[in-house]
Amino acid sequence: MPSSISEAPALVQVRDMWKSFRHGSRKLDVLRGVNLDLRAGEMVTIIGASGAGKSTLLHCLGTLDLPTSGEILFYPPGGGTPTDITRLSPPDLADFRNRTIGFVFQFHHLLPEFSALENAMMPALIARISTRQAREQAEAMLDAVGMSHRLDHRPGELSGGEQQRVAIARALAMQPRLLLADEPTGNLDTKTSEEVHELLFRLNEEHDLTMLVVTHNMELAQKMPRVVRMADGRILEQGLGSSDDPDRVPAE
Ligand code: ADP
Ligand code: MG
Repeated sequence: MPSSISEAPALVQVRDMWKSFRHGSRKLDVLRGVNLDLRAGEMVTIIGASGAGKSTLLHCLGTLDLPTSGEILFYPPGGGTPTDITRLSPPDLADFRNRTIGFVFQFHHLLPEFSALENAMMPALIARISTRQAREQAEAMLDAVGMSHRLDHRPGELSGGEQQRVAIARALAMQPRLLLADEPTGNLDTKTSEEVHELLFRLNEEHDLTMLVVTHNMELAQKMPRVVRMADGRILEQGLGSSDDPDRVPAE
């Protein structure tokens, strides 16, 4: 393992990304030249006022939406030539998304008719992985998020924090290289938010999982190793991304 994040290989590089929406007769530039580098194993927090473009950035990065211009370069696991995912064909993009990206949203979006285990198995079943393997992966992730005692519960039989833990397990069941979380605790009370944030932090540390987390919670942001601020479709500040950074806010 690299001795510090600053020596870790690049995972993704966003280069001069623009995203415009047409709103009536007007063109709305929502992302205006975003540059962002994420290294493997890094945990990056995005803060910024509502409307700054945070969700749009995550959607483009996660290939749920296509930027108007710019590059999103993903590096293969062992290093080497990156792929500009904005140029992939729709089927290749869907495959890439399924294997590489995990999403967690503000609302858990669990399927109410299915158990925690079935929900967490869903991405693997969609990817046509065998039921046995899907179950093994889902159980392992539900265990990692502390939910192995609630496998058979439906979302309605779980607390808000537990629902979000299951959503995180589902996002991680395919072992993505990048977890994108858009205000994952925006719908939770303070104590539960803290618990979910601690879980994300632990998953980053223990599983070396790269994540980009949008949050409104400044207390949480201060505990994070690297914070990026967005305003008006641009990234204003960028931390050094190094745990050796002397100016870094201590995690404890
Ligand atoms: P944030 O997540 O930082 O609150 P968003 O990325 O959701 O911000 O939105 C940034 C801006 O882009 C907002 O002003 C929003 O109204 C606008 N926007 C987002 N999606 C669309 C869309 N599909 N069509 C038009 N405008 C949009
Ligand atoms: Mg948003």
